[in-house]
Amino acid sequence: MELYAHTLSALRQQLEQGEVTSVEITRSVLERIAAVDDRIGAYLLVDEPAALAQAEAADARRAGGENLSPAAGIPLGLKDLLSTKGMITTCASRMLENYVPAYDATVVARLRQAAAVFAGKLNMDEFAMGSSNENSAFKLVRNPWDTECVAGGSSGGSAAAVAADECIAALGSDTGGSIRQPAAFCGVVGLKPTYGRVSRYGLVAFASSLDQIGTLTKSVADAGLLLGEIAGHDPRDSTSANLPVPDYLAAMEPEVKDLKIGIPREYFSADIHADVRDAVQQAIEVFTGLGAEIEEVSLPHTEYAVATYYLVATAEASSNLARYDGVKYGYRVPDADGLIDMYRKTRARGFGPEVKRRIMLGTYALSAGYYDAYYKKAQQVRTLIRQDFEQAFSRCDLLLSPVSPTPAFKIGEKVADPLAMYLSDILTIPVNLAGLPAISVPCGFSREGLPIGLQLIARPFAEDCLLQAARHYEQATDWHLKKPEIAEGEK
Ligand code: GLN
Repeated sequence: MELYAHTLSALRQQLEQGEVTSVEITRSVLERIAAVDDRIGAYLLVDEPAALAQAEAADARRAGGENLSPAAGIPLGLKDLLSTKGMITTCASRMLENYVPAYDATVVARLRQAAAVFAGKLNMDEFAMGSSNENSAFKLVRNPWDTECVAGGSSGGSAAAVAADECIAALGSDTGGSIRQPAAFCGVVGLKPTYGRVSRYGLVAFASSLDQIGTLTKSVADAGLLLGEIAGHDPRDSTSANLPVPDYLAAMEPEVKDLKIGIPREYFSADIHADVRDAVQQAIEVFTGLGAEIEEVSLPHTEYAVATYYLVATAEASSNLARYDGVKYGYRVPDADGLIDMYRKTRARGFGPEVKRRIMLGTYALSAGYYDAYYKKAQQVRTLIRQDFEQAFSRCDLLLSPVSPTPAFKIGEKVADPLAMYLSDILTIPVNLAGLPAISVPCGFSREGLPIGLQLIARPFAEDCLLQAARHYEQATDWHLKKPEIAEGEK
């Protein structure tokens, strides 16, 4: 097997035993990107000299006898909304096309400290708004399993890069499903931690009460290792939790026997694709075989989740995106006639259509006279949704469901119908509204050969329990070992 095809866990061992160098792994990954990314479109930026220099530095630190953490010397991909000092960070928007951050996001700084290697910045939906990566201002991301299909979104570049072995693991962000849904569509593991588990400092904000940084990896063990690198309190993010970070790898060991798993009735409605339903049903049987107890539960306010999300998320987005006014940073039109004209033209040309739609929806929901009817009401329903989960978790340790109602859809299929696109996030959005941790794990394939994802949801800060169950499921199956065939060097 080529080096680029290995997991983080495997490469970490090989590095520790001196069987391979970070420079060798990094070269292998960079060659893979050069060979296949024309077909996939996962990267917006690859800085080969910088990556190789980081790899050399990692090798030097190891040779110096330093005790390095798991990500040391490992080439990772970063979703292009994570601020990287001195490296362009576009959010896949014309607005930030030439924006070079003056500082690192906390997760990036921690990984630098750990001697990780950054292969490059990954494609996404503009400002993380979307479910298919078709909203990138620069290019599409294609699904490595079928290049006529979407990779999912908004972390489509992160999921596709991991699935196509164009990085060993990646970071993404999840506001309403943006890690889990593309992970499911591309057949990789996607972990969205509890709100507050990972610092958001330096993550370009979309909806601040929902955004959370997480991992896209080739295995559950890799998710645990990478989460361990980025989790923990950060004084620069007042919403980050001041709680100790467990050893996630050790937490995965105990058996899942006697674990109580709830199946939310509302997540198995008639709209779920038959192949998704079958694959998830089989996964439930695997858990039964592992000794878990399965029981049906109800999350009665599920049907209001998408509407609630599109009020809360757009309201927060309209306020977060007010900063892109052409004055302080980012794009500014060259041909303005005065200040107001400059604002107007800069925002008209700098933002794409979906971002504008969200800003308008959010501005409307917050406007005088409508605030109580929309924004306040949405906050009240958000509380009810959170309480649904609290009820369910008084009876069980985990919840299990599909990630997305369907496997990856065709490119172009939903672009003309925003509501259909929004509704495809029905099974992931409630988790963000409640701030819970959840993971997407490969659990089968559709008849067309597209990957299907299983979602496990846990109590706040119970990532250890989540990873433990996901790991045992993964070991009992071999879905995560399947790889797409990508023709190298042709379009
Ligand atoms: N698809 C959802 C949206 O467009 C979620 C996006 C996300 O999680 N960043 O808002």
